[in-house]
Amino acid sequence: MATEAQDWLSNLIRDFVLTSPLNSLRREPDEKAWDEPLVGFSSGADPLYKDFKDAVGEDHWTPLEAFSLKFPGTVVRPENLTVISWILPHRQTTKDDTSKENFYPSLRWVQARFPGEEFNNSLRRYVVEELNKKGILSVVPLHLPEWSWGKSVKYVYSSKWSERHAAYASGLGTFGLCDGLITNKGKAHRAGSVIANIAVPATARPYADHRAYCLFFFDKSCTACGKRCPVGAVTEKGHDKLKCWDHAGGTCARYVKENFGFDGYGCGLCQTGVPCASGIPRKILQHLEKAQAG
Ligand code: SF4
Ligand code: SF4
Repeated sequence: MATEAQDWLSNLIRDFVLTSPLNSLRREPDEKAWDEPLVGFSSGADPLYKDFKDAVGEDHWTPLEAFSLKFPGTVVRPENLTVISWILPHRQTTKDDTSKENFYPSLRWVQARFPGEEFNNSLRRYVVEELNKKGILSVVPLHLPEWSWGKSVKYVYSSKWSERHAAYASGLGTFGLCDGLITNKGKAHRAGSVIANIAVPATARPYADHRAYCLFFFDKSCTACGKRCPVGAVTEKGHDKLKCWDHAGGTCARYVKENFGFDGYGCGLCQTGVPCASGIPRKILQHLEKAQAG
């Protein structure tokens, strides 16, 4: 059963997404960028955050490290920190448009990234402001001046804080073959998080491993995201981040400038027109239901 703090924060985030005029693709006529969000919580003391750091490297932050960068004079125990994580699902029109493409992104997809991510930033700031009104200190890890992403020997690219990993720790989904996070509302989304000095009960993680919702890792019955990728960046060996970024951040950025007339990038083909685009694949849901009943 949800607690008062879980309800308060979930409603705060959901109402902002549903009612804020900033949730906009800035098209004529206006259209929302994002559907109703998913919200989850994980403890600052969750051992997963230490596991992420061990896997990625010394530069990757635990919740306590990120919080302490913002509030160096505040002594806080990790168990009194909560990572508030959310998923902003793409709208069906954006997914429909993008699923028709076979090389470049759709205009709606890029608009959901630019200016859609500006809305995600507004939501991050809004959550901090509302917590602040109640005297609760909090930080947006991605807004810390020390946050960066860059080359990694082990993972090609890595960052000091990962929104998708925070969402995984907060019970919101697991990773697919293409590295996207498959949630109850699918893999076509953006994620956000805030770390707050409040002990909110963690959301249960209804999965035993980080690949539980992907059909490829379930029974090898799907490689649809690989088939959708126009540059062969997703294979049975996984996601080639270099090839992906070369396309999404290079070729597609040039296409966006020339054809849509603004600076932006993105691809999204592997997140649309696939069985996990809008939810956990049916076969896996049936398996989970059977396991629960049995
Ligand atoms: S499209 Fe298929 S293989 Fe790719 S992440 Fe989704 S379920 Fe996994
Ligand atoms: S986002 Fe990357 S991996 Fe996915 S389809 Fe585009 S280039 Fe391929």
